[in-house]
Amino acid sequence: MANSTDRLLHVYFFPFLAHGHLIPTVDMAKLFAGRGVKTTIVTTPLNAPNFSATTTTGPDIQTRLIDFPAAEFGLPAECQNLEFISAHNKGWEGVSQFTRAAVALREPFEKLLEQDRPDCLVADMLFPWATESAAKFGIPRLIFHGTSFFALAAGDAVATHEPQNRVSSDDESFVIPGLPDEVRFTRRQLPSRSSEKEEDFMFEFFKRVGESSSECFGTVVNSFYELEPAYADHYRRVLGSGRRSWHVGPVSLCNADDRAVRGKEATIGRDECLKWLESKEPNTVVYVSFGSIVKFSAEQMREIAIGIEASECQFIWVVRECHQEDDGNNWLPEGFEDRTSGRGMIIRGWAPQVLILDHAAIGALVTHYGWNSTLEGITAGLPMVTWPVMADQFYNEKLVTEVVRIGVSVGGREWSVDGGGTVGHAAVESALRRVMSREVEEVMGMHRRAKALGEMARKAVEEGGSSYFDLSALIEELRSQT
Ligand code: UDP
Repeated sequence: MANSTDRLLHVYFFPFLAHGHLIPTVDMAKLFAGRGVKTTIVTTPLNAPNFSATTTTGPDIQTRLIDFPAAEFGLPAECQNLEFISAHNKGWEGVSQFTRAAVALREPFEKLLEQDRPDCLVADMLFPWATESAAKFGIPRLIFHGTSFFALAAGDAVATHEPQNRVSSDDESFVIPGLPDEVRFTRRQLPSRSSEKEEDFMFEFFKRVGESSSECFGTVVNSFYELEPAYADHYRRVLGSGRRSWHVGPVSLCNADDRAVRGKEATIGRDECLKWLESKEPNTVVYVSFGSIVKFSAEQMREIAIGIEASECQFIWVVRECHQEDDGNNWLPEGFEDRTSGRGMIIRGWAPQVLILDHAAIGALVTHYGWNSTLEGITAGLPMVTWPVMADQFYNEKLVTEVVRIGVSVGGREWSVDGGGTVGHAAVESALRRVMSREVEEVMGMHRRAKALGEMARKAVEEGGSSYFDLSALIEELRSQT
């Protein structure tokens, strides 16, 4: 292997094929590239255009493409991103087909490793085989889970101690053992295992994901120490030597110059968006978005619309394109847009989320608690209305509502790949009124704490900050391995 004085350190990034994984990984690659590291992102042809615009405006980042074997696994050729599975209502079976196709990327991926011989691989947790691939070529594999230290620690405790098996009903709460705080959960907030058999592919797959987390060189986390110090320490000290980790976030802050271009191309122009926001007073608009995967039923969409309208709040509501295709506008109460004209805006498709959240007009965020949106909200210093649906979102909700206490809960009581039970419009209205209120002392406390966290987030990535320091330490460590 070449000496670090001969050539640049070369790091390979391999994000899972979903926006919530691609976006922060591309940001991370930019951070490394900004520190003089040669970076290569490996992805599939249909995912590359989603981030090529962002990588051409920043430091030099190479892209390497591999084909996604969708057809071999019964999926249409245009299905190369998990977004497609939810948009077309393919459910858990579709997730399983997609995951099998992703496992089949191993062979072409290893061919690239053989050709390029990078010094390190940062691969998504959903490529558990990547640890063995890296070992084949004698390089360290870092794992990226795309979630908080809190969710990593809580998920590990649930998997290890299985407290959910010691309660008598899905609604009886249990304490997640061994965490720095007393965190209560119910079985409803965890994925159901009842239909899975031992030999089930997804069961085995997630078992491998868990094992590969402790087998690899370490974990790179999109978080900052000041947000969850007890959980960062817990992850590092309590979970053993296999859990070396470096926090480098919030990675979204690396986009200071092009915050409008992130992930897919936005369906609203930057100028139009800013003009609308600039017509509003500070802290008076609520941003409502549920990320790139959650797809609610038409009935749920209607309840959200009625709740937003009744709240009398100013709003930006992002509605995924698939709601248009399947249901037209049937879920939208007649005349909604006329009646809310001026005070609200629906963005159909993809919003320039970070640009919007960072604008002074935004006063709060309604989110499904995908970790990226959660951290972007925290970074913007915003309190939140919490609406978890699946994946790590119920853990993230606990961190925000109970540990750092900047969130108001609206519903979302049950883990589900298809949106969960319906939350009524009255609950939506009351959560919006509450989070936007300037009269309730408890809510003002949330605003103050959220603002302070936003300032800490920015300091963390500045020179001398905790995330800046950890990234330097990681790069030095990787250099010493070459
Ligand atoms: N996002 C965006 N515009 C949209 C929807 C999502 O820019 O209209 C970005 C958002 O800023 C975040 C990511 O997509 O970085 C979504 O990741 P998250 O973890 O919040 O949720 P997921 O989509 O994985 O459920």
